[in-house]
Amino acid sequence: GGTLYIVATPIGNLGDMVQRAIDILHKVDVIAAEDTRHSAKLLQHFGISTATTAYHDHSDEAKTQSLIEQLGSGESIALISDAGTPLISDPGYRLVHEARKQGLRVEPIPGACAFVAALCASGLPSDRFSFEGFLPAKSTNREQVLSAVCEDSRTLIFYESPHRISASLESIALVMGAEREMVLARELTKTFETFIGGTVAEVIAVLEQDANQKRGEMVLMIKGFEAQAEREVSREVENMLAILCEELP
Ligand code: SAM
Repeated sequence: GGTLYIVATPIGNLGDMVQRAIDILHKVDVIAAEDTRHSAKLLQHFGISTATTAYHDHSDEAKTQSLIEQLGSGESIALISDAGTPLISDPGYRLVHEARKQGLRVEPIPGACAFVAALCASGLPSDRFSFEGFLPAKSTNREQVLSAVCEDSRTLIFYESPHRISASLESIALVMGAEREMVLARELTKTFETFIGGTVAEVIAVLEQDANQKRGEMVLMIKGFEAQAEREVSREVENMLAILCEELP
């Protein structure tokens, strides 16, 4: 069978396209794209004239099967999404799952991914984190999701859209408290890249003062839960150390 390549593309800055992605997109038989018109611009920019076909979340089972058959007959396919890494809040899961099930070769071509870029420059703990995708649009659902992760000690990462950011921040303040530390990363790799860090209340205030900060693409990161007990213990230890230090000669 042919190989299914999962190819990452830039999240804004075309300079982030990796050489191996360009080479693979040139050499495959077909490129399966989330939005062929959107991807046409990228392909044109890199002088890639490989045939494209649409593959998105609304593609039916038959589309998946026909791509699997193409792979089975020895053709190679590259899957790309509109931006970043396919399958990360983007289509492709069913295709990869099915390809693996059929024993077909699946090869990743790593590159840009918005949440990795956001996290590594955020200053929040990155040793353990949970990527949660998009928060639900309806406030009750959103607050349910937030409640379920409220006491998670890992850094929480969400994708967000400009028209929902204010509502989401209000829900976060409500469920997790306005004093929780967070970072909002906007327009990564682009001209107006911005990191806004502080408490949830402080980030809300920045967005209220400057409506431009609500625009563009954004990743929302929330510092993990720190148990009250832990904090009290450490304060106790601090006090004890202070007393001991005074007693030292
Ligand atoms: N597959 C992509 C990836 O690897 O990151 C994510 C696709 S998802 C449909 C789109 C969301 O990713 C946006 O709503 C935003 O939350 C985030 N995103 C994508 N590009 C971004 C950028 N340049 N800056 C900040 N966030 C970005």
